[in-house]
Amino acid sequence: MLKKRFLFIFDFDNTIVNDNTDTYIWKLLPQGQKSLPSQFEKEKHWNKFMRKVLQFYYHNDISVQQIKSCLQEMELTQGFGELFDFIRTNKEQIECIIASDSNTYFIDSILDKQGFKDVIDKIYTNPVQIIDDMEISIFPYHKNDCESTCPRNMCKRTIIMDNYQLTNYEKVCYFGDGKNDYCPGTILRNEDIIFVRKGYGLEKLIQKKDLLCEKVYFESGIDCINRLKNLFL
Ligand SMILES: [Mg+2]
Ligand SMILES: [Zn+2]
Repeated sequence: MLKKRFLFIFDFDNTIVNDNTDTYIWKLLPQGQKSLPSQFEKEKHWNKFMRKVLQFYYHNDISVQQIKSCLQEMELTQGFGELFDFIRTNKEQIECIIASDSNTYFIDSILDKQGFKDVIDKIYTNPVQIIDDMEISIFPYHKNDCESTCPRNMCKRTIIMDNYQLTNYEKVCYFGDGKNDYCPGTILRNEDIIFVRKGYGLEKLIQKKDLLCEKVYFESGIDCINRLKNLFL
């Protein structure tokens, strides 16, 4: 691949899509239950929790296809269709990746539907195994000892540091909303930008402990385009 000027890193849940993929599928719970049976509440590790949720779905005959159809109803965050069109227009200068604590199946289902898989070079997320089109098992992406606000199965800072040399890029742009987007933010340089979704956990964390890079707070993908467009003149 030719050397690109920019590295764009996207969180997925509540950044690209306007909801959380893991909790969105609770819509499929039997008899329209709004929450999960109480035995699930004790599980503290989200990744293990989701594995149990999907086993529960399997035992209640909720198929993989139903899960996919449900996910494909999800809406993009406002302006993100336009943001990905903007990236596609400038793709020869931008390497574009996703780092997400969702999973490969959920993300692929949505990218297929939304039609911008062509813009994404690589996806770092929890792997899944699908058995007989009926059962999805989720596995942890890795195990880390990060001391920041990261879950044990996913430190996005570690993912970036293991796979990219930031000095190879003129500018790194990170787009996120959540607590687990703070740790990767700590490796961004003065010249980099973190795009922070307004009203979500990451914004609060940055107010407590500032980051070195430029901060752009967004409500819509259009806010991101407005900051980015003069970089591509
Ligand atoms: Mg998120
Ligand atoms: Zn971390």
